[in-house]
Amino acid sequence: MTTLLVSQTNYEEHLTPKGHPECAARLVAVAEALSAPEFDALVRQDAPYGDLFLAELVHDANYLPALRDARPAEGIRSLTSDTVISGNSLDVVATGLGGALAGLRGVLLGEVDNAFCAIRPPGHHAEIADTSGFCLVNTAAIAAREAQRKYGAERIAIVDFDVHHGNGTQDIFKDDPSVFYASSHQMPLFPGTGRPDEHGVGNIFNAALKPKTAGAEMRAAYNEIILPALDNFAPDLIILSAGFDAHILDPLAQLEWVEDDFRWVTGKLMDIAERRCGNRIVSLLEGGYDLKGLSGGVSTHVATLLNG
Ligand code: ZN
Repeated sequence: MTTLLVSQTNYEEHLTPKGHPECAARLVAVAEALSAPEFDALVRQDAPYGDLFLAELVHDANYLPALRDARPAEGIRSLTSDTVISGNSLDVVATGLGGALAGLRGVLLGEVDNAFCAIRPPGHHAEIADTSGFCLVNTAAIAAREAQRKYGAERIAIVDFDVHHGNGTQDIFKDDPSVFYASSHQMPLFPGTGRPDEHGVGNIFNAALKPKTAGAEMRAAYNEIILPALDNFAPDLIILSAGFDAHILDPLAQLEWVEDDFRWVTGKLMDIAERRCGNRIVSLLEGGYDLKGLSGGVSTHVATLLNG
């Protein structure tokens, strides 16, 4: 495979309080992991600024203006109990979006087979009208809409293996049969949504995993729920909300996935991408808060994207 790696250069400028799990050190760990010789074949690109007005494709019209107004002149301001904004946060969100759109462009123009975008902050908890869970703007959702609007892709699948349910992504697409959303996540856990009986208009598939379960339960859930539904949907493009907080080392959740589980799920999704959409996968980093678990998960995921 030809795999594009898109990296942010201004990721440190989104400030979070000391001890906050969503910190700049996450992307330092990811960059270090992906600098190993086994990744020499990656096509590398710095994330350009993306147009934040595109947030209107998925968020309320007053969503972005409210975020702009919330920026403090200095320091950090809390938006919710766990979500913060600093003076330059929206610049970082803009390169996160620009990175995702660069990945989208490379994949949809056929310049590369797939792409991984190492970006922060995560986005999948950002709902139509509300920020939450460390997320300011729902980057994966905007990328899905841009794939349709700019590139003419019709059927977009978003698969989310972050340990938390992507309440924002489900909220945005729950009434839209052109976008498929499937999530595997620990339940009970923040944000509390993602019950298996939440089906949207037949386009939502939730696999709830019990705390302390590991790869066997995850693989069964994908084999029984997510993979057949994804195959049946026959997407033109697969966007991954790639979180690595289901890793056994992660401090925010109690699933017990190891590197081989991230390899397995990536490979299974690639099998469907090969059969249904010419290998087209754009993978966006979401969560992952233990630096060792994050770098191990990302290494395995990207190595699989690259080598099959
Ligand atoms: Zn998460």
